[in-house]
Amino acid sequence: MKSGVIDITRPVNLKDEYDVVIIGAGPAGSRCARLIAEEGFSVAVFEKRAEIGAPKRCAEGIGVKALQRMGYTGNERFVAQHIDGFYLYAPNGKEFMVEYGSSQGCVVERKVFDKFLAYDAAKAGASFFTRTEVVDVLRDDGKISGVVIRYGEEEFEVKAKVVVSAEGIEGKIARKAGIDTTNKLINVDSGYQYEMANLTMKDPKKLYFYLGNEIAPRGYIWIFPKGEYVANVGIGIGGVGATKKAKEYLDAWIENHPEIFGEASIIEENAGGIPVGGLLEDMVRDGFVVIGDAAHTVNPIHGGGMDEGTKAGEMAARVICECLEQGDVSHNALAKFNKLWWKERGEKLKRVEKLRQVIEKLRDDDLNFLAEELDVQDVIDFAGGKNLTKLAKILIKRPKLIKLATILR
Ligand SMILES: Cc1cc2nc3c(=O)[nH]c(=O)nc-3n(C[C@H](O)[C@H](O)[C@H](O)COP(=O)(O)OP(=O)(O)OC[C@H]3O[C@@H](n4cnc5c(N)ncnc54)[C@H](O)[C@@H]3O)c2cc1C
Repeated sequence: MKSGVIDITRPVNLKDEYDVVIIGAGPAGSRCARLIAEEGFSVAVFEKRAEIGAPKRCAEGIGVKALQRMGYTGNERFVAQHIDGFYLYAPNGKEFMVEYGSSQGCVVERKVFDKFLAYDAAKAGASFFTRTEVVDVLRDDGKISGVVIRYGEEEFEVKAKVVVSAEGIEGKIARKAGIDTTNKLINVDSGYQYEMANLTMKDPKKLYFYLGNEIAPRGYIWIFPKGEYVANVGIGIGGVGATKKAKEYLDAWIENHPEIFGEASIIEENAGGIPVGGLLEDMVRDGFVVIGDAAHTVNPIHGGGMDEGTKAGEMAARVICECLEQGDVSHNALAKFNKLWWKERGEKLKRVEKLRQVIEKLRDDDLNFLAEELDVQDVIDFAGGKNLTKLAKILIKRPKLIKLATILR
Protein backbone atom coordinates (compact mmCIF):
# COMPACT_ATOMS: atom_id res chain seq x y z
CA MET A 1 0.00 0.00 0.00
CA LYS A 2 1.21 3.54 -0.87
CA SER A 3 2.30 5.58 2.13
CA GLY A 4 -0.38 8.06 3.22
CA VAL A 5 -3.18 5.76 2.05
CA ILE A 6 -5.29 4.55 4.97
CA ASP A 7 -6.48 0.95 4.92
CA ILE A 8 -10.00 1.22 6.36
CA THR A 9 -10.39 -2.55 6.32
CA ARG A 10 -7.74 -2.90 9.06
CA PRO A 11 -8.30 -1.86 12.72
CA VAL A 12 -6.44 1.39 13.48
CA ASN A 13 -3.04 0.82 15.16
CA LEU A 14 -3.29 -2.99 15.03
CA LYS A 15 0.07 -4.76 15.41
CA ASP A 16 0.85 -8.31 14.34
CA GLU A 17 2.04 -9.38 17.78
CA TYR A 18 1.44 -8.60 21.48
CA ASP A 19 2.58 -10.10 24.76
CA VAL A 20 -1.07 -10.60 25.74
CA VAL A 21 -4.33 -10.61 23.79
CA ILE A 22 -7.58 -10.26 25.75
CA ILE A 23 -10.93 -11.31 24.28
CA GLY A 24 -13.73 -9.03 25.53
CA ALA A 25 -13.75 -5.53 27.03
CA GLY A 26 -16.12 -6.23 29.92
CA PRO A 27 -15.02 -5.51 33.50
CA ALA A 28 -12.89 -8.68 33.75
CA GLY A 29 -11.02 -8.08 30.48
CA SER A 30 -10.37 -4.35 30.92
CA ARG A 31 -9.25 -4.72 34.54
CA CYS A 32 -6.85 -7.52 33.58
CA ALA A 33 -5.56 -5.47 30.62
CA ARG A 34 -4.82 -2.44 32.78
CA LEU A 35 -2.74 -4.34 35.32
CA ILE A 36 -0.73 -6.17 32.65
CA ALA A 37 -0.10 -2.93 30.73
CA GLU A 38 1.02 -1.21 33.95
CA GLU A 39 3.79 -3.80 34.21
CA GLY A 40 5.05 -2.72 30.79
CA PHE A 41 3.78 -5.63 28.66
CA SER A 42 2.01 -5.03 25.35
CA VAL A 43 -1.71 -5.84 25.49
CA ALA A 44 -4.48 -5.83 22.89
CA VAL A 45 -8.15 -6.06 23.89
CA PHE A 46 -10.60 -7.12 21.18
CA GLU A 47 -14.28 -6.28 21.66
CA LYS A 48 -16.85 -7.46 19.16
CA ARG A 49 -19.41 -4.80 20.03
CA ALA A 50 -19.25 -1.30 18.53
CA GLU A 51 -19.47 0.34 21.96
CA ILE A 52 -17.84 -0.87 25.15
CA GLY A 53 -20.42 -1.28 27.95
CA ALA A 54 -23.51 -1.06 25.73
CA PRO A 55 -26.05 -2.49 25.71
CA LYS A 56 -25.85 -3.36 29.39
CA ARG A 57 -26.93 -6.79 30.59
CA CYS A 58 -26.77 -5.98 34.26
CA ALA A 59 -28.67 -4.45 37.19
CA GLU A 60 -25.49 -2.38 37.70
CA GLY A 61 -25.10 -2.88 41.46
CA ILE A 62 -21.57 -2.99 42.92
CA GLY A 63 -20.02 -2.46 46.36
CA VAL A 64 -18.02 0.69 47.12
CA LYS A 65 -15.22 -1.54 48.46
CA ALA A 66 -14.92 -3.17 45.04
CA LEU A 67 -14.64 0.25 43.36
CA GLN A 68 -12.04 1.36 45.90
CA ARG A 69 -10.02 -1.81 45.30
CA MET A 70 -9.84 -0.70 41.65
CA GLY A 71 -8.65 2.78 42.63
CA TYR A 72 -11.98 4.62 42.35
CA THR A 73 -13.70 6.66 45.07
CA GLY A 74 -17.34 5.85 44.30
CA ASN A 75 -17.99 9.47 43.28
CA GLU A 76 -17.04 9.13 39.62
CA ARG A 77 -19.29 10.07 36.73
CA PHE A 78 -20.29 6.41 36.27
CA VAL A 79 -22.13 6.31 39.63
CA ALA A 80 -25.88 6.80 39.17
CA GLN A 81 -26.98 6.22 42.78
CA HIS A 82 -25.39 5.64 46.18
CA ILE A 83 -26.89 2.79 48.16
CA ASP A 84 -27.02 2.61 51.96
CA GLY A 85 -29.06 -0.55 52.56
CA PHE A 86 -31.69 -2.89 51.21
CA TYR A 87 -35.19 -4.23 51.65
CA LEU A 88 -35.78 -7.97 51.39
CA TYR A 89 -39.32 -9.39 51.08
CA ALA A 90 -40.26 -12.99 51.95
CA PRO A 91 -43.03 -14.66 49.87
CA ASN A 92 -45.54 -13.84 52.65
CA GLY A 93 -44.58 -10.16 52.42
CA LYS A 94 -42.48 -10.08 55.61
CA GLU A 95 -40.05 -7.22 55.17
CA PHE A 96 -36.43 -7.09 56.30
CA MET A 97 -34.71 -3.73 56.13
CA VAL A 98 -30.96 -3.37 56.44
CA GLU A 99 -29.53 0.11 56.89
CA TYR A 100 -25.75 0.43 56.68
CA GLY A 101 -25.71 4.04 57.89
CA SER A 102 -23.48 5.12 55.04
CA SER A 103 -23.11 4.51 51.31
CA GLN A 104 -21.73 0.98 50.94
CA GLY A 105 -22.80 0.32 47.40
CA CYS A 106 -23.62 1.99 44.11
CA VAL A 107 -25.75 1.50 41.10
CA VAL A 108 -23.52 2.45 38.20
CA GLU A 109 -24.11 3.21 34.53
CA ARG A 110 -22.43 0.19 32.91
CA LYS A 111 -22.07 2.04 29.63
CA VAL A 112 -19.93 4.61 31.46
CA PHE A 113 -18.30 2.30 34.05
CA ASP A 114 -17.08 -0.23 31.48
CA LYS A 115 -15.67 2.65 29.46
CA PHE A 116 -13.83 4.04 32.50
CA LEU A 117 -12.20 0.63 33.00
CA ALA A 118 -11.18 0.68 29.34
CA TYR A 119 -9.99 4.33 29.47
CA ASP A 120 -7.74 3.52 32.43
CA ALA A 121 -6.37 0.40 30.77
CA ALA A 122 -5.72 2.36 27.55
CA LYS A 123 -4.00 5.10 29.59
CA ALA A 124 -1.76 2.40 31.06
CA GLY A 125 -0.81 1.38 27.52
CA ALA A 126 -3.32 -1.32 26.49
CA SER A 127 -4.69 -1.10 22.93
CA PHE A 128 -8.44 -1.51 22.45
CA PHE A 129 -10.20 -2.53 19.24
CA THR A 130 -14.00 -2.33 18.96
CA ARG A 131 -16.17 -4.09 16.38
CA THR A 132 -13.40 -6.67 16.27
CA GLU A 133 -14.45 -10.24 16.96
CA VAL A 134 -12.06 -13.02 17.88
CA VAL A 135 -13.18 -15.97 15.78
CA ASP A 136 -10.49 -18.56 16.48
CA VAL A 137 -7.22 -19.31 18.25
CA LEU A 138 -3.84 -19.91 16.63
CA ARG A 139 -1.74 -22.86 17.70
CA ASP A 140 1.96 -23.48 17.51
CA ASP A 141 3.06 -26.98 18.41
CA GLY A 142 -0.24 -27.52 20.28
CA LYS A 143 0.18 -24.38 22.39
CA ILE A 144 -2.11 -21.35 21.93
CA SER A 145 -0.02 -18.72 20.15
CA GLY A 146 -2.55 -16.03 19.21
CA VAL A 147 -5.97 -15.39 17.74
CA VAL A 148 -7.78 -14.84 14.47
CA ILE A 149 -9.82 -11.63 14.48
CA ARG A 150 -12.57 -10.49 12.14
CA TYR A 151 -12.94 -6.78 11.40
CA GLY A 152 -15.68 -6.06 8.87
CA GLU A 153 -15.17 -8.57 6.07
CA GLU A 154 -11.46 -9.09 6.78
CA GLU A 155 -9.67 -11.61 9.00
CA PHE A 156 -6.23 -11.08 10.56
CA GLU A 157 -3.89 -13.27 12.58
CA VAL A 158 -2.53 -11.71 15.75
CA LYS A 159 0.22 -13.48 17.68
CA ALA A 160 0.39 -13.44 21.50
CA LYS A 161 2.38 -15.17 24.22
CA VAL A 162 -0.79 -15.42 26.32
CA VAL A 163 -4.45 -15.19 25.27
CA VAL A 164 -7.05 -14.34 27.94
CA SER A 165 -10.70 -15.19 27.38
CA ALA A 166 -12.88 -12.61 29.16
CA GLU A 167 -15.70 -13.23 26.68
CA GLY A 168 -18.57 -13.39 29.13
CA ILE A 169 -21.29 -16.01 29.25
CA GLU A 170 -21.71 -16.32 25.48
CA GLY A 171 -18.01 -17.07 24.97
CA LYS A 172 -16.97 -19.70 22.43
CA ILE A 173 -13.24 -19.17 22.14
CA ALA A 174 -12.24 -20.77 25.46
CA ARG A 175 -13.85 -23.98 24.17
CA LYS A 176 -11.79 -23.74 20.99
CA ALA A 177 -8.73 -23.47 23.24
CA GLY A 178 -9.70 -26.74 24.94
CA ILE A 179 -11.44 -25.52 28.11
CA ASP A 180 -14.95 -26.90 28.38
CA THR A 181 -16.94 -23.87 29.57
CA THR A 182 -20.31 -25.46 28.76
CA ASN A 183 -22.49 -25.02 31.84
CA LYS A 184 -25.39 -27.19 32.99
CA LEU A 185 -28.81 -25.61 32.48
CA ILE A 186 -29.36 -25.74 36.24
CA ASN A 187 -26.35 -23.45 36.70
CA VAL A 188 -27.58 -20.72 34.37
CA ASP A 189 -30.24 -18.25 35.48
CA SER A 190 -32.31 -16.35 32.96
CA GLY A 191 -32.39 -12.62 33.52
CA TYR A 192 -34.84 -10.08 32.14
CA GLN A 193 -34.81 -6.41 32.97
CA TYR A 194 -36.38 -3.03 32.29
CA GLU A 195 -34.87 0.32 33.07
CA MET A 196 -37.96 2.22 34.18
CA ALA A 197 -38.70 5.86 34.85
CA ASN A 198 -41.44 7.48 36.93
CA LEU A 199 -41.82 4.65 39.42
CA THR A 200 -42.49 5.20 43.10
CA MET A 201 -39.91 3.88 45.56
CA LYS A 202 -39.93 4.15 49.35
CA ASP A 203 -36.29 5.18 49.40
CA PRO A 204 -34.03 5.55 46.34
CA LYS A 205 -30.96 4.77 48.45
CA LYS A 206 -32.07 1.16 49.03
CA LEU A 207 -32.04 -1.93 46.84
CA TYR A 208 -35.21 -4.05 46.84
CA PHE A 209 -35.31 -7.87 46.61
CA TYR A 210 -38.52 -9.91 46.36
CA LEU A 211 -38.39 -13.69 46.94
CA GLY A 212 -40.89 -16.41 46.13
CA ASN A 213 -41.28 -19.35 43.78
CA GLU A 214 -44.64 -18.00 42.60
CA ILE A 215 -43.12 -14.73 41.42
CA ALA A 216 -39.57 -15.86 40.51
CA PRO A 217 -38.87 -19.61 40.68
CA ARG A 218 -35.43 -20.22 42.21
CA GLY A 219 -34.57 -16.56 41.90
CA TYR A 220 -35.75 -13.12 42.80
CA ILE A 221 -37.11 -9.86 41.49
CA TRP A 222 -35.09 -6.71 42.07
CA ILE A 223 -35.45 -2.96 41.97
CA PHE A 224 -32.08 -1.17 41.81
CA PRO A 225 -32.63 2.60 41.91
CA LYS A 226 -30.70 4.87 39.56
CA GLY A 227 -32.12 8.07 40.99
CA GLU A 228 -35.26 9.22 42.76
CA TYR A 229 -37.67 7.98 40.09
CA VAL A 230 -35.54 5.75 37.81
CA ALA A 231 -34.53 2.13 38.45
CA ASN A 232 -33.48 -1.17 36.95
CA VAL A 233 -36.39 -3.55 37.55
CA GLY A 234 -35.51 -7.12 36.77
CA ILE A 235 -35.86 -10.80 37.44
CA GLY A 236 -33.51 -13.77 37.54
CA ILE A 237 -35.02 -17.25 37.48
CA GLY A 238 -33.54 -20.75 37.59
CA GLY A 239 -32.58 -22.49 34.37
CA VAL A 240 -34.94 -25.40 35.17
CA GLY A 241 -38.30 -25.62 36.92
CA ALA A 242 -39.91 -22.44 35.60
CA THR A 243 -43.14 -22.83 33.64
CA LYS A 244 -43.04 -19.40 31.97
CA LYS A 245 -40.40 -17.12 30.50
CA ALA A 246 -38.58 -14.68 32.80
CA LYS A 247 -40.28 -11.73 31.07
CA GLU A 248 -43.75 -13.18 31.71
CA TYR A 249 -43.04 -13.55 35.45
CA LEU A 250 -41.67 -10.00 35.59
CA ASP A 251 -44.56 -8.46 33.66
CA ALA A 252 -47.12 -10.22 35.87
CA TRP A 253 -45.39 -8.96 39.02
CA ILE A 254 -45.13 -5.39 37.72
CA GLU A 255 -48.83 -5.40 36.84
CA ASN A 256 -49.64 -6.59 40.37
CA HIS A 257 -47.84 -3.59 41.88
CA PRO A 258 -49.58 -0.47 40.58
CA GLU A 259 -48.52 1.39 43.73
CA ILE A 260 -44.92 1.24 42.41
CA PHE A 261 -45.35 1.03 38.64
CA GLY A 262 -48.81 2.50 37.92
CA GLU A 263 -47.36 5.56 36.16
CA ALA A 264 -43.99 4.09 35.11
CA SER A 265 -42.47 3.89 31.60
CA ILE A 266 -39.93 1.50 30.14
CA ILE A 267 -36.79 3.26 28.93
CA GLU A 268 -34.61 0.26 28.13
CA GLU A 269 -35.11 -3.49 27.96
CA ASN A 270 -32.46 -6.20 28.18
CA ALA A 271 -32.00 -9.89 28.82
CA GLY A 272 -29.10 -12.19 29.56
CA GLY A 273 -27.93 -15.41 31.14
CA ILE A 274 -26.22 -15.47 34.54
CA PRO A 275 -23.87 -18.36 35.44
CA VAL A 276 -24.70 -19.22 39.07
CA GLY A 277 -22.45 -22.24 39.51
CA GLY A 278 -20.28 -24.69 37.63
CA LEU A 279 -16.94 -23.23 38.76
CA LEU A 280 -14.02 -24.51 36.70
CA GLU A 281 -11.23 -26.42 38.43
CA ASP A 282 -8.76 -25.67 35.65
CA MET A 283 -8.98 -22.28 33.94
CA VAL A 284 -5.72 -22.44 31.97
CA ARG A 285 -4.05 -24.16 29.03
CA ASP A 286 -0.62 -23.62 27.44
CA GLY A 287 -0.66 -19.89 26.65
CA PHE A 288 -4.35 -19.47 27.58
CA VAL A 289 -6.41 -18.30 30.59
CA VAL A 290 -10.18 -17.86 31.06
CA ILE A 291 -11.66 -15.37 33.56
CA GLY A 292 -14.93 -13.69 34.60
CA ASP A 293 -18.36 -14.88 33.44
CA ALA A 294 -16.67 -17.01 30.78
CA ALA A 295 -15.24 -19.03 33.72
CA HIS A 296 -18.55 -18.76 35.68
CA THR A 297 -16.97 -16.69 38.48
CA VAL A 298 -20.23 -15.08 39.59
CA ASN A 299 -21.73 -15.09 43.10
CA PRO A 300 -24.19 -18.03 42.78
CA ILE A 301 -26.73 -16.47 45.16
CA HIS A 302 -27.12 -12.89 44.03
CA GLY A 303 -25.66 -13.22 40.53
CA GLY A 304 -23.25 -10.28 40.93
CA GLY A 305 -20.28 -10.76 38.62
CA MET A 306 -18.53 -7.39 38.24
CA ASP A 307 -16.64 -7.63 41.52
CA GLU A 308 -15.82 -11.32 41.02
CA GLY A 309 -14.84 -10.82 37.35
CA THR A 310 -12.48 -7.94 38.13
CA LYS A 311 -10.96 -9.87 41.05
CA ALA A 312 -10.30 -12.81 38.72
CA GLY A 313 -8.84 -10.33 36.20
CA GLU A 314 -6.48 -8.97 38.87
CA MET A 315 -5.28 -12.41 39.93
CA ALA A 316 -4.83 -13.55 36.34
CA ALA A 317 -2.84 -10.38 35.55
CA ARG A 318 -0.50 -11.02 38.48
CA VAL A 319 0.19 -14.61 37.42
CA ILE A 320 0.50 -13.77 33.70
CA CYS A 321 3.06 -11.02 34.42
CA GLU A 322 5.12 -13.41 36.58
CA CYS A 323 4.99 -16.06 33.85
CA LEU A 324 6.00 -13.57 31.14
CA GLU A 325 8.92 -12.37 33.27
CA GLN A 326 10.06 -15.95 33.75
CA GLY A 327 9.54 -16.77 30.06
CA ASP A 328 7.27 -19.71 30.86
CA VAL A 329 3.59 -19.51 29.86
CA SER A 330 2.98 -23.26 29.89
CA HIS A 331 -0.13 -24.81 31.43
CA ASN A 332 1.95 -25.74 34.44
CA ALA A 333 3.21 -22.19 35.03
CA LEU A 334 -0.17 -20.50 34.41
CA ALA A 335 -1.83 -23.02 36.75
CA LYS A 336 -0.68 -20.75 39.61
CA PHE A 337 -3.79 -18.76 38.67
CA ASN A 338 -6.01 -21.78 39.46
CA LYS A 339 -4.36 -22.15 42.84
CA LEU A 340 -4.56 -18.47 43.71
CA TRP A 341 -8.16 -18.02 42.55
CA TRP A 342 -9.43 -21.15 44.29
CA LYS A 343 -7.75 -20.10 47.54
CA GLU A 344 -8.94 -16.46 47.42
CA ARG A 345 -12.40 -16.85 45.82
CA GLY A 346 -13.24 -20.38 44.64
CA GLU A 347 -13.62 -22.07 48.03
CA LYS A 348 -15.97 -19.32 49.21
CA LEU A 349 -18.05 -19.30 46.02
CA LYS A 350 -18.33 -23.08 46.21
CA ARG A 351 -19.95 -22.71 49.67
CA VAL A 352 -22.33 -20.08 48.25
CA GLU A 353 -23.17 -22.49 45.42
CA LYS A 354 -24.04 -25.17 47.99
CA LEU A 355 -26.34 -22.68 49.70
CA ARG A 356 -27.97 -21.90 46.35
CA GLN A 357 -28.60 -25.64 45.88
CA VAL A 358 -30.40 -25.70 49.23
CA ILE A 359 -32.43 -22.54 48.60
CA GLU A 360 -33.61 -23.73 45.20
CA LYS A 361 -35.25 -26.73 46.86
CA LEU A 362 -37.19 -24.60 49.35
CA ARG A 363 -40.88 -23.98 48.82
CA ASP A 364 -42.51 -20.68 49.66
CA ASP A 365 -43.75 -21.93 53.05
CA ASP A 366 -40.15 -22.98 53.87
CA LEU A 367 -38.91 -19.51 52.89
CA ASN A 368 -41.60 -17.95 55.10
CA PHE A 369 -40.50 -20.22 57.97
CA LEU A 370 -36.90 -19.03 57.51
CA ALA A 371 -38.08 -15.42 57.39
CA GLU A 372 -39.49 -15.92 60.88
CA GLU A 373 -36.33 -17.60 62.22
CA LEU A 374 -33.62 -15.39 60.76
CA ASP A 375 -32.48 -11.87 61.35
CA VAL A 376 -30.97 -9.47 58.84
CA GLN A 377 -27.35 -10.17 59.77
CA ASP A 378 -27.93 -13.89 59.08
CA VAL A 379 -29.21 -13.03 55.61
CA ILE A 380 -26.11 -10.91 54.89
CA ASP A 381 -23.77 -13.63 56.23
CA PHE A 382 -25.37 -16.44 54.24
CA ALA A 383 -25.27 -14.47 50.97
CA GLY A 384 -21.52 -14.15 51.54
CA GLY A 385 -21.15 -17.88 52.27
CA LYS A 386 -20.54 -17.30 56.01
CA ASN A 387 -22.10 -18.98 59.06
CA LEU A 388 -23.92 -21.66 57.04
CA THR A 389 -23.92 -24.07 59.99
CA LYS A 390 -26.42 -21.71 61.67
CA LEU A 391 -28.71 -22.11 58.67
CA ALA A 392 -28.24 -25.89 58.82
CA LYS A 393 -29.28 -25.87 62.52
CA ILE A 394 -32.44 -23.91 61.70
CA LEU A 395 -33.33 -26.21 58.79
CA ILE A 396 -33.02 -29.22 61.12
CA LYS A 397 -35.96 -27.83 63.13
CA ARG A 398 -38.19 -28.68 60.16
CA PRO A 399 -38.13 -32.46 59.64
CA LYS A 400 -38.63 -32.27 55.89
CA LEU A 401 -35.59 -29.99 55.60
CA ILE A 402 -33.15 -32.21 57.55
CA LYS A 403 -31.76 -33.72 54.35
CA LEU A 404 -31.08 -30.25 52.98
CA ALA A 405 -29.35 -29.24 56.20
CA THR A 406 -26.78 -31.98 55.66
CA ILE A 407 -25.67 -30.35 52.38
CA LEU A 408 -24.52 -27.33 54.36
CA ARG A 409 -22.49 -29.20 56.98
C1 LIG B 1 -29.95 -9.35 34.06
C2 LIG B 1 -28.59 -9.31 34.71
C3 LIG B 1 -28.38 -8.55 35.85
C4 LIG B 1 -27.11 -8.50 36.45
N1 LIG B 1 -26.91 -7.68 37.53
C5 LIG B 1 -25.68 -7.56 38.07
C6 LIG B 1 -25.43 -6.63 39.12
O1 LIG B 1 -26.30 -5.88 39.56
N2 LIG B 1 -24.16 -6.56 39.61
C7 LIG B 1 -23.14 -7.32 39.13
O2 LIG B 1 -22.02 -7.22 39.64
N3 LIG B 1 -23.36 -8.21 38.13
C8 LIG B 1 -24.58 -8.33 37.58
N4 LIG B 1 -24.78 -9.18 36.52
C9 LIG B 1 -23.65 -9.97 36.04
C10 LIG B 1 -22.65 -9.08 35.29
O3 LIG B 1 -23.29 -8.37 34.26
C11 LIG B 1 -21.52 -9.95 34.74
O4 LIG B 1 -21.08 -10.83 35.76
C12 LIG B 1 -20.32 -9.13 34.27
O5 LIG B 1 -20.66 -8.28 33.20
C13 LIG B 1 -19.22 -10.09 33.83
O6 LIG B 1 -18.11 -9.39 33.35
P1 LIG B 1 -17.17 -10.07 32.26
O7 LIG B 1 -16.14 -9.04 31.95
O8 LIG B 1 -16.75 -11.41 32.70
O9 LIG B 1 -18.09 -10.32 30.98
P2 LIG B 1 -18.98 -9.32 30.12
O10 LIG B 1 -19.32 -8.09 30.87
O11 LIG B 1 -20.11 -10.13 29.58
O12 LIG B 1 -18.01 -8.90 28.92
C14 LIG B 1 -17.63 -9.82 27.93
C15 LIG B 1 -17.34 -9.03 26.67
O13 LIG B 1 -16.74 -9.89 25.71
C16 LIG B 1 -17.24 -9.55 24.43
N5 LIG B 1 -17.02 -10.71 23.56
C17 LIG B 1 -17.62 -11.94 23.67
N6 LIG B 1 -17.12 -12.77 22.74
C18 LIG B 1 -16.21 -12.06 22.02
C19 LIG B 1 -15.36 -12.38 20.93
N7 LIG B 1 -15.35 -13.60 20.39
N8 LIG B 1 -14.56 -11.41 20.43
C20 LIG B 1 -14.55 -10.16 20.97
N9 LIG B 1 -15.35 -9.80 22.01
C21 LIG B 1 -16.14 -10.75 22.55
C22 LIG B 1 -18.70 -9.22 24.69
O14 LIG B 1 -19.24 -8.43 23.66
C23 LIG B 1 -18.61 -8.47 26.02
O15 LIG B 1 -18.48 -7.08 25.85
C24 LIG B 1 -26.04 -9.25 35.90
C25 LIG B 1 -26.24 -10.03 34.75
C26 LIG B 1 -27.50 -10.04 34.15
C27 LIG B 1 -27.69 -10.85 32.89
